[in-house]
Amino acid sequence: MPGILEEADKHCAKTGVRLTPLRRRVLELVARADVPVKAYDLLSQIDHTRTNAKPPTVYRALDFLIDAGLVHRVEALNAFVACPQAGHGHAAVLYVCENCTKVTEVQGTRPGQENKPDGFEVRRSVVEHYGICLSCLKNDTSKT
Ligand SMILES: [Zn+2]
Ligand SMILES: [Zn+2]
Repeated sequence: MPGILEEADKHCAKTGVRLTPLRRRVLELVARADVPVKAYDLLSQIDHTRTNAKPPTVYRALDFLIDAGLVHRVEALNAFVACPQAGHGHAAVLYVCENCTKVTEVQGTRPGQENKPDGFEVRRSVVEHYGICLSCLKNDTSKT
């Protein structure tokens, strides 16, 4: 999805953060995958193109992308998805299909803001919903 990289470039230019070639490459790999990407999958793909990219460097690039709001971590899968809306202010609401592991992100309100402890500043929120996506549901019913 080239749109995600363009959005990321715009977002980084606006916020003054630097999208280094490695960060950009990591984002590209995450954005290109249909399903959430594991860190070790990224490592193996990056090794082909950048032999000098050591695992800690790749993990740091991922951390950067998460902090910048360009990538979300799917906690339960311990994998990563690219955000279709770079650096959005909303919390990420992810719908995870338990069958094909495809993740769909929707814009949510800001969960956790209503009852948060006094003075607590929420920096990042991810809400994950689990179930079956429409295409898996369709495939399932067509078999029976
Ligand atoms: Zn997002
Ligand atoms: Zn599915």
